[in-house]
Amino acid sequence: MGDCVGDWVWDGGRSSVDLLNTLRDRVRGGRETLHTPDDLARWLREAGFTQIGAAGPADLAAARRLRGAIDSAVFAAAEGRPVPDAAAQAINEVAGAVPLAPRLALDAAGRPSRVPSGPAVATALAQVAVDAIDLVTGAETGRLRVCAADDCGLRFVDRSPARNRQWCSMRRCGNRAKAGRHYARGRARS
Ligand SMILES: [Zn+2]
Repeated sequence: MGDCVGDWVWDGGRSSVDLLNTLRDRVRGGRETLHTPDDLARWLREAGFTQIGAAGPADLAAARRLRGAIDSAVFAAAEGRPVPDAAAQAINEVAGAVPLAPRLALDAAGRPSRVPSGPAVATALAQVAVDAIDLVTGAETGRLRVCAADDCGLRFVDRSPARNRQWCSMRRCGNRAKAGRHYARGRARS
């Protein structure tokens, strides 16, 4: 905890890509931001899975395994390479770990409520895995990008109309790159 707080970014465009970005600084060998099961629970809540209670060590291991599998599957698909079997299996394992369909529960008076079928963390991870399956097989496969900044490595789905988004975000890397170009031009002139 501590140093990873505030290090999560939500510019991926989809939950499966945001999960990839919990491993930061991939160009420098990777920096983990999901250190503990608590980190995972907090990340899932911030990702919009509001029903999340406590996560356990097995959930954390599953999330990290899923993250690695998604990364290799989506980039293989995006680059037209064969998707590794092991990656597909790992994604399927998490996607199929719990039934995703909710149950219609009734109380004694017959009042209905919507109840998830499985434990909240496993259900959320399964939804992320399904999002990855949709990404690998859907219309956005070819829109997966890695931020153009040399030292970033964040992944995102490019939804710009011209399909020319370069940066994970203008705020983080885009402005920095612009400033760098100004600096380089200034030096060239002097
Ligand atoms: Zn970036």
